[in-house]
Amino acid sequence: MHALDAYELYRFFHIGDDETAALRGVSLQVCAGEIVAVTGPSGSGKSTLLACLTGLDEPDGGHVEVAGVRLTRRSQANRARLRRANFGILLQSGNLFPHLTVEQNVRLQMQLAGKPDEKRIAPLLDSVGLVARARALPTELSGGETARAGLAVALACDPPILVADEPTAEVDRDTELRLIAQFEARRAAGLATLLATHSKALAQRADRIVRLKDGRVENG
Ligand code: ADP
Repeated sequence: MHALDAYELYRFFHIGDDETAALRGVSLQVCAGEIVAVTGPSGSGKSTLLACLTGLDEPDGGHVEVAGVRLTRRSQANRARLRRANFGILLQSGNLFPHLTVEQNVRLQMQLAGKPDEKRIAPLLDSVGLVARARALPTELSGGETARAGLAVALACDPPILVADEPTAEVDRDTELRLIAQFEARRAAGLATLLATHSKALAQRADRIVRLKDGRVENG
């Protein structure tokens, strides 16, 4: 069974009389222990795909299954429950509460998932290179630090599926290698990882690359 299965996803946006087809029949599978990279030019549909895969957005056609359970066309509450049980999510919209420090954000995520583990917080922040920024508020972080803090939150409970949009944007080479090591540790632990990325270094370490263009899979 796949960790994540998407069948023929379609998503249209309407502004006035204009229609944009952000996804035009995208199918994609991610297995446990696999890293899949989604690449493609800006506007090709990556963010829309990630939002539909995690149930944060509803596709207009097609459906998504998480560990064999249908996620699409369920109530908000059911989608939220499935999301909490299965996903760690870092999208462009961010996932940090602005009034909490980095460390408090990670702690809250663990508490919300019912998995508080004070001992894991420091090693987790270390693994994303943010120990020194543990007490910083999100507004005090650089772009790269924000992405890494968001990643720490998304990774906080070792989610069965990590979905991250540009997790290595604006980070230096050393940090990028450190984050890649994180993703590889997830692979070794049999967890699924799906990353939208422009980074060649990151895409090269993926088990599979799904290239999007104009809302379609180019290499499908
Ligand atoms: P990417 O993440 O690859 O840059 P997106 O998924 O953000 O691509 O966007 C795909 C297409 O859908 C683009 O043409 C974009 O303008 C359009 N789009 C995305 N979200 C919206 C929205 N909320 N309203 C209108 N158009 C949107």
